[in-house]
Amino acid sequence: MTVRGSNLQSAQQVTFVGSSSSRDNVVVKLSARAAQPTAITVTVPSRAKSGAVRVSGTIAAAVSSPQPVKIVAGLPAADDASGSTKLIAGGKREAHFGYHVNSSAAVGSRVEAVSGTTGKVVRSWPLVKSGEGSVNWDGFVGKEPATSGTYVLRLNDSASASAETTTGSDTQFELAEGFFPVRGAHTLAASEMQRFGGSRNHQGTDHFAKCGTPLAAFTSGVVQFNAFQGAAGNYVVVQRANGESYAYMHMRERSPVKVGAKVFAGQRLGRVSDSGHASGCHLHIELWTAPGWYKGGHAYDSLPLMKRLDKLN
Ligand SMILES: [Zn+2]
Repeated sequence: MTVRGSNLQSAQQVTFVGSSSSRDNVVVKLSARAAQPTAITVTVPSRAKSGAVRVSGTIAAAVSSPQPVKIVAGLPAADDASGSTKLIAGGKREAHFGYHVNSSAAVGSRVEAVSGTTGKVVRSWPLVKSGEGSVNWDGFVGKEPATSGTYVLRLNDSASASAETTTGSDTQFELAEGFFPVRGAHTLAASEMQRFGGSRNHQGTDHFAKCGTPLAAFTSGVVQFNAFQGAAGNYVVVQRANGESYAYMHMRERSPVKVGAKVFAGQRLGRVSDSGHASGCHLHIELWTAPGWYKGGHAYDSLPLMKRLDKLN
C-alpha cells in the first residue's frame, strides 16, 4: 500500500488504526529509506484491520488518511516455490515443450517424458497434425506425482523425422515430487511425541519452526476444509486428485484459501504458529488415505514423505 502526501521523508511509522479502540492498532516501523518525500510504501500486515491509516514522525504532526482504508483478505500473493530451481509436480510453473511439425507426422509420433534414472517413458502426448504444437507437463503421471529426479522431454523416434523441437523448450530438468511445506529453518519430527502414533495415537507429525515461518502446500489439490477448531487451531485440508487428503494445523491465522479452490504445490497457505492445542510453534501435518480426512480414510505416517521433501527443496 502506498501513502501519498508531502514532507513525508522523516516519517517513522505507519499505523493501521482499525476500529476506534487502540487495541487493534498494527504499527509498521519504517526503515530510513522507506519514506520518500511524497510517498511511503508499506506491506499491509496480515493482522491489520480496515480503518484509518496514520503516518507519524513527520516534521508536521501525525497525519491520518481522510478516508478509512478497506483491507480485504486476498489470495496469497506469495508463491513460495518461485525461488526453487527445480520443477515441482503440481507447481505453478509447468515444464514446457514446443515443437514444429514440418511434414505430415508418421503414425505413432509423440512427445515423451523420459526418466533419466530408469530410462522409462512415464508419459507421452500425440503430436498435432501440422504446424506448431506444445506440451505443458505438471509433473503428474495419472493422479500421482512422478518420482523425483531428472526428466527429459523429447520427440520419439517416429516423430523425429517429421518434427523439430522449438527454442525455449524444457528438454531436461530436475523434477521434485512436492515441496517441503515449512519455508524456513525447522526441525523434522524428532521425539516420540512429535512422531506418528505412539502412546497418544498422534495422527500427524510435528515439525517445529520459528513462529510466523511461511507455510506452503506440499502438493496440489482442492481445499476441502478451512476452519478453526479447539485442538487443531487454524487448519486447512487439501484433497489431491487421488482422493487422499492432507491436513495442515496450528496456523497463525485463518488461511486465505477458499474451500473448493485449487491450490498449487508451493502456494502459501499461512504461517507456522501454535493456535489451538499446541505447545510451541510447529506444523502438525496429517496424511489420510482416500476417501480422505474424516471421510472414511485413515491417517498414515507423514514422516517418510516429509523427509524426502526436506532433502529436495
Ligand atoms: Zn501434532
